[in-house]
Amino acid sequence: MWDAIVIGAGPAGATAARRLSVAGASTLLLEKQPLPRYKACGGGVPARTLELLDGLDISPVSEGCVDTIDISRYGQPHFRKTSDRPLAWMVMRDRFDQFLTELAVEAGANLRDATPVQSIVERDGCYELETPSGSVRARHLLAADGATGPTTRWLGIDSAPTRSAAYEVEVAAPPAALEHWRGAANVDVGYRPWGYGWVFPKAGKLSVGVVTAPGRGRAIRKQTDRYLAHLGLADADVLNVQGHPVRYRRSVREPVARDRALLLGDAAGLADEFTAEGIAYAVHSANLAAEAVLSSGDVADAYTASIDRFVQPELDAARTISRLYYWCVTTWPWLALKTSKHVNYLWRAFFRVMRGESTYARELSVLPGAGLVQSLAASA
Ligand SMILES: Cc1cc2nc3c(=O)[nH]c(=O)nc-3n(C[C@H](O)[C@H](O)[C@H](O)COP(=O)(O)OP(=O)(O)OC[C@H]3O[C@@H](n4cnc5c(N)ncnc54)[C@H](O)[C@@H]3O)c2cc1C
Repeated sequence: MWDAIVIGAGPAGATAARRLSVAGASTLLLEKQPLPRYKACGGGVPARTLELLDGLDISPVSEGCVDTIDISRYGQPHFRKTSDRPLAWMVMRDRFDQFLTELAVEAGANLRDATPVQSIVERDGCYELETPSGSVRARHLLAADGATGPTTRWLGIDSAPTRSAAYEVEVAAPPAALEHWRGAANVDVGYRPWGYGWVFPKAGKLSVGVVTAPGRGRAIRKQTDRYLAHLGLADADVLNVQGHPVRYRRSVREPVARDRALLLGDAAGLADEFTAEGIAYAVHSANLAAEAVLSSGDVADAYTASIDRFVQPELDAARTISRLYYWCVTTWPWLALKTSKHVNYLWRAFFRVMRGESTYARELSVLPGAGLVQSLAASA
């Protein structure tokens, strides 16, 4: 009988397993795939994530960092903005997730990779999980099995039904392109009703992709091919291509826990609708889940209250910003791009959020005419 079983060794699962093990809880971490495993992801780890990881030094798995955002529209360059400190670290997810998982194991977690959970039943006050190598039991269950994991279905927790698609291509770019994107991430706007293309620089390659609005995933491959062509990378060697959904929790009414089973990261839809990033929220939810498990009260209530208090306001604010920004940039593209080029206040606010010095919710609340902004976003 384990104190806790964690399903999935992504950033959420690995972090939760580490936190619980450090506190002395017996923890089993089950991962479906053999590790290290690939995950379709831009691999941009916002600087604020490191604070949530207690200032962890991720340099052993870092492929560089980005301090500049380069804005283009359908591949046509517009402007660049630079932060005086790093905005995000670039990682390959197989190495980054493996790094976090090794830290969990060092802290005492028991890892079984290549071990898919096949079913879950609740019996005699504990959870019994079936795996190909036998059944395992625990008092607490932490479901960190990502946007497509089966746990929410098995537990009957109807969470985060809103989904969008993201598509990622890794290319071995020519040296000139690698040099051009060194330290800079491209954000390509104009996609309707929202979405963007990105270039994230890695060691010796570029991660290029497109994320679209919920329900608009059909055209994503064509959009990505067009975007690669605009970037002059249509003929670059493709090293990897993968699509994957992103899920969004849109309301405190969408459950993230039941009894002693908690949903973490993408399994709970904790990704934001402005940038579609989820790594920081995955880590944050892991911290909050471990805290709830280690507390003496009602675990589901404690966890839900923490997510609603610390994470959901960010997701809500990011959604408001997303609706307004992408509506402007698709409705009046030239005006929106000119304004966003010259209003440095907005960039400083965005950089503060990425670096963990502020939050979307705080920046939104101090915007002049905050109430008007909220209602414009609601009607956009
Ligand atoms: C194309 C794309 C680009 C993205 N780019 C970024 C970005 O640049 N920055 C950012 O912050 N976010 C990005 N995201 C979002 C980010 O990838 C996720 O938010 C993040 O991976 C969530 O972490 P997680 O630990 O919750 O889930 P995951 O990382 O998905 O991990 C879930 C794990 O559970 C395992 N699993 C599933 N089912 C089972 C089972 N039955 N038994 C055992 N294990 C199981 C899986 O194998 C997997 O290892 C991107 C998403 C996509 C799709």
